[in-house]
Amino acid sequence: MIYMVLVFSDNRNLNIELLSKGSELAKELGEKLTTIIIGKSDEELANEYIAFGAEEVYIAENEIEFFKSEEFSDIIEKIINETNNNYILIGSNKNGKELASRLAGKIDAGCIIDCSNIYFKDKKITAERTVYSGNAISIEQFNSLPAILTVSSKVFDPLKKDEKNKGNIVKKKYDIEKSSSKIINVKEMQSESVNVEDAEIIVSCGRGFKNKEDIKYANELADTLKGKTIGCSRPIAADLKWLSEDHWIGLSGHKVKPKLYIAAGISGQIQHIAGMRDSGIIVAINKDPEALIFKSADYGIVGDLYEVLPKLATALKNKIS
Ligand SMILES: Cc1cc2nc3c(=O)[nH]c(=O)nc-3n(C[C@H](O)[C@H](O)[C@H](O)COP(=O)(O)OP(=O)(O)OC[C@H]3O[C@@H](n4cnc5c(N)ncnc54)[C@H](O)[C@@H]3O)c2cc1C
Repeated sequence: MIYMVLVFSDNRNLNIELLSKGSELAKELGEKLTTIIIGKSDEELANEYIAFGAEEVYIAENEIEFFKSEEFSDIIEKIINETNNNYILIGSNKNGKELASRLAGKIDAGCIIDCSNIYFKDKKITAERTVYSGNAISIEQFNSLPAILTVSSKVFDPLKKDEKNKGNIVKKKYDIEKSSSKIINVKEMQSESVNVEDAEIIVSCGRGFKNKEDIKYANELADTLKGKTIGCSRPIAADLKWLSEDHWIGLSGHKVKPKLYIAAGISGQIQHIAGMRDSGIIVAINKDPEALIFKSADYGIVGDLYEVLPKLATALKNKIS
C-alpha cells in the first residue's frame, strides 16, 4: 500500500494552505504530495502550486464550467485510484464540504470535517477539531484508509513560495458520467468587496454600537491605521443588517488572522472568538470590566467606545504624523 497525500480545493489560496500541511505529512511518510486542478488547463496555476510545495499536479482537462460535486468527485476518485493516494485533504469551503462527503461515500473512506490540526500519532493519522462552539477540542483518529480530512481557510500558513521547486504536471481528460443536475443561472453574491479573511488590520464592531451611523467611529480608526477593514459580530450583520455578511466574523462567519484585531463593543462569546482567536495582537474595548473578550485580549481598554475610539484615532494620527 502506498500512503501518498493528495490535497484539493477549488479555491487557490485555500489549496496553497493545504499544500503546506500536505507537504509536512508527505515528508513524514517519505511520499509524494499531489494536487489537482479541474476544468481548465492552467499551467501557470500548476507551476504556482509546485512553487508552494506540490510535487505532482493533475490537470483534469474536462470541460467543466461550474462546480458540481458529482463530476468533481468522479474525477478525484479516478485520480485517487490511479495514484493510490490514501490521505486526502479537502478545502472546507461550501463546495469542499459537499465534495468531501460525496467522495467519502464513493471511495468508502472515513471523513473528519473542519480539522484544526492534523498529524501522525502512533502511526495513525490524527485530527483535532473544535467542538461545542469552541468550548472543547476533539481528537480523532482513523481506523482505516483512505482518510479524508477537510480544513477551513486560515488554519495553516502557506509555505514560502520557491520558484526553484520541481514537479510533475499530468494533463488528462477523464471519462466521467455527466451529472444529471443542471446549473441554470449563477448570480454573484452582492458584496461590498470587503475581504476580512486577508486583512492585516481589522477594527470590529459589536452590539456596543447603538446606531448604524456610529460605525463611522470604527471606520475613522481603521482609516488612521491604514487598515480600512471593518469586521463585526453576528448581530451587527445577521440581525441588525448594519453591515453586510462579508464583515461577519466568528464560528458561522469568516475566520480571520490579521496582525491586529480591535474589538469594540463585543462581549467575546465563544462563537465570536472562534473566528478571530488566531489574530496576532488583540485589543478589546468594552465598558464592562468583566466582559469575556478581555480573556482573549492582549490589551484591554475598559471604557465607553464612544469616548475611546475617537481618542485612540486622534492619538494614533498624532503619533503617525
Ligand atoms: C450556533 C451559533 C453560532 C454563532 N456564530 C457567531 C459568529 O459567527 N459570530 C459572532 O460574533 N457571534 C456568533 N454567535 C452569537 C454569539 O453567541 C453572540 O451572541 C454574539 O457574538 C454577541 O455579539 P456582541 O458581542 O456584538 O453583542 P453582545 O453580546 O450584546 O455584547 C455587547 C458588548 O458591548 C459592550 N458595550 C455596550 N455598550 C458599550 C459602549 N458604549 N462601549 C463599550 N462597550 C460597550 C457590552 O458590555 C457587551 O460586552 C453565534 C451563536 C450561535 C448559537
